[in-house]
Amino acid sequence: MIAIEQLREIWIYGTFDVDNFGDLLLPLIAQHKLGHHHRIVPVSPEGMRTQYQDAISPSSIEINGKPSLILVGGGNIITRELKELAEYPSWKFDFDTAALSIWIGPLFQALRLNVPLIWNSPGCLEPSEIKGPLQQSVNRWIKEASTRPVNLRDISSARRFAEFYDGPIQITPDTGFSVIDAYPSSTLSERIKIVREKYSFGENYIACQIKTEYADISYERIAHILDRIAQQHNMELVLLPLGLCHGDLKAVGGVSKFLKAAHTIIDHNFMIIDALSIISNAYLMITSSYHASIVASVYETPLKLIAPKILEKFDDLQTLLDLERVETWSALTTDINLAKSKNVYQKAYEQTNKLEKYWEDIRGLLKLGYHQSHQRKLPDSYISQQPIARTAIYYSLLKKPRYRRNRQRCPICGSSSFVSGGSIHFRRKRVCTGCGSRPRHRAVHEVFKSLKITPDSKKALMFSRDPSIDPKAFSSFEYSVFNKDNHIDLMSIERESESYDLIFLNHVLEHVKDDHKALCELSRILKGNGFLFITVPSPALINKTDDWGFPDPKVHEHYRTYGRNIYHFLKDTLNDFTVYEVEAVDPITEIPDYVYVCHKASIYSLRSDNILSLEIVEPYVNEKPVLENGLWHLRKLIETRNIQRAKNALSKLRFSFPDELRVSMLECDLLHCQELFDKEQQLLEKCQKEHINNHAITLRKARLMAVSNTPLNAQQFLSDHFGHECVSQESLEKALEPIRYFYYQ
Ligand SMILES: [Zn+2]
Repeated sequence: MIAIEQLREIWIYGTFDVDNFGDLLLPLIAQHKLGHHHRIVPVSPEGMRTQYQDAISPSSIEINGKPSLILVGGGNIITRELKELAEYPSWKFDFDTAALSIWIGPLFQALRLNVPLIWNSPGCLEPSEIKGPLQQSVNRWIKEASTRPVNLRDISSARRFAEFYDGPIQITPDTGFSVIDAYPSSTLSERIKIVREKYSFGENYIACQIKTEYADISYERIAHILDRIAQQHNMELVLLPLGLCHGDLKAVGGVSKFLKAAHTIIDHNFMIIDALSIISNAYLMITSSYHASIVASVYETPLKLIAPKILEKFDDLQTLLDLERVETWSALTTDINLAKSKNVYQKAYEQTNKLEKYWEDIRGLLKLGYHQSHQRKLPDSYISQQPIARTAIYYSLLKKPRYRRNRQRCPICGSSSFVSGGSIHFRRKRVCTGCGSRPRHRAVHEVFKSLKITPDSKKALMFSRDPSIDPKAFSSFEYSVFNKDNHIDLMSIERESESYDLIFLNHVLEHVKDDHKALCELSRILKGNGFLFITVPSPALINKTDDWGFPDPKVHEHYRTYGRNIYHFLKDTLNDFTVYEVEAVDPITEIPDYVYVCHKASIYSLRSDNILSLEIVEPYVNEKPVLENGLWHLRKLIETRNIQRAKNALSKLRFSFPDELRVSMLECDLLHCQELFDKEQQLLEKCQKEHINNHAITLRKARLMAVSNTPLNAQQFLSDHFGHECVSQESLEKALEPIRYFYYQ
């Protein structure tokens, strides 16, 4: 017997933290089929325990560690509607990514951790809202992460999946068909004795589940129909709520009030095995549940499926098993035959058999030691640099929303009230009611602020009016609005050369027919050492700019969609500029954006009053990838003028991230710092000659020695001046602490 702690894990993604019999059954089946040397860990958005006592306790999507295998599904979890799930109210506030976290989230995990990923026959719901560049990304992630062709449970799911995925798809039966292997009939006939005692009901009963959503007639009339069926066959009724999350308990309670027939409600101590034994030993199952229908078919229990023509999954199931189905309660007649249907059972049995091959394949994969044969591990830096994935959106699929009790304030106007608006981009509540700013405006605002440009003597021009920049701070601020106030043709700007210090173009360039010409014009009217700020819609979504050459009314009259290569385009076009691609995150929604800061100067001509350095937020532990940690560390070293260590850190970052622009920006700072450093040395030497016994100056001198890679000399120097307590590296650091932030004129 292997201790449970030593077992390797298999993560199975789905809604296993929701009180739903059908979904909760699936990890139990997987445990039986694959769990001889592995422990099944259900992974769900919230990771809360359900009311079913024998269900496997789930983990939240923030799960740590490394499994041997990731299973996606089952259940109807592939929803491409970007809406919040009723089951996850806490995600509603500004996230609606719960649904995506359990089928796109595991793709990232599989790539990150280099573990095989198998689609455990999930179902696919509504028509696609994932379109355009996002669809291309999703398509690629599925291909990169999936170890085998995508398995889906029925034809309609496959058809919908194929609307946005062009790789191979297989139809594999819902793994619920393997229930009979995990719970043999003999086990359940033993169990029913205990269950009958627990809830006190007899041997002859009809099990019934009522889904409120499909109750087209009153509870009273449903009770009446059930009474007549019970009477006709001389049976008791067992009212079995299977979807506690859908309000099944309320529905059976409502019907119970009107029932004349003897009946029992299963309303406490919920267990999956009890529900299974009730269904498998009943004389008839009346249900609107997909998985209860499968269970009844597998155990040869006569079945009446009540399912309207809303969800195609029931059409597929009906065809597959040749089920008797009515679409409404009002269509349910009382002349029901309780004879077992060999035909349905035979078809269910075929499905169970088909699954055997599927489980065998997975067991083979687990034995193989996948990680040795398939090296596809992507470094964290790769994922963090993926267009959309390098963003907060990526993390939102692997993290639960952090509940903010005190809402944050708009960095532009200070308001703390936000409303929905704009295109749906996974999250809502994005528009500030105070200033009307959207995430991209706040991103520009943050970048501008971090550049520490003193606006009072500056002349600025903004194309298309937006709240990102406060015009009052400038000595002159001009707006140009397309076809309205002060219209300026970007391709032929009627302004003197070198007449502005700052120019802002937020979501403007994509409306211009010839963007090359526009940039040349902008370059012309900008003064030397001036700045041009450019943002474009979703530049991180595709790699290459797609220019169709006309203003397409379907995409807000844009001439093109910019890709990641916009940076090179700007750099090549604005050839006497230094162009920075700055990743900026809106502090309210955490939606990332890129701001292109184009400085009309070469990096070597930077002056001390406009050091181009970003505020780099301290990374949360384990939340930010290597790059973010590295940048933060480097930034700190430069700030504290640890020149030599900064140089080492820089060369490491350069090696791992040769094209990362934020590294270049920090290199710039470092050069700038180095220059001051040389001056500092001269100044200190001068000071020391004049004030030989000044301790502060002595410490600064020691610090300079320490950071200029002569720490031994520094130690010697310190011990000469302060005695022996300062000789260790630790005490040296301590001595230097008070003068870490040393500025000069
Ligand atoms: Zn605001």
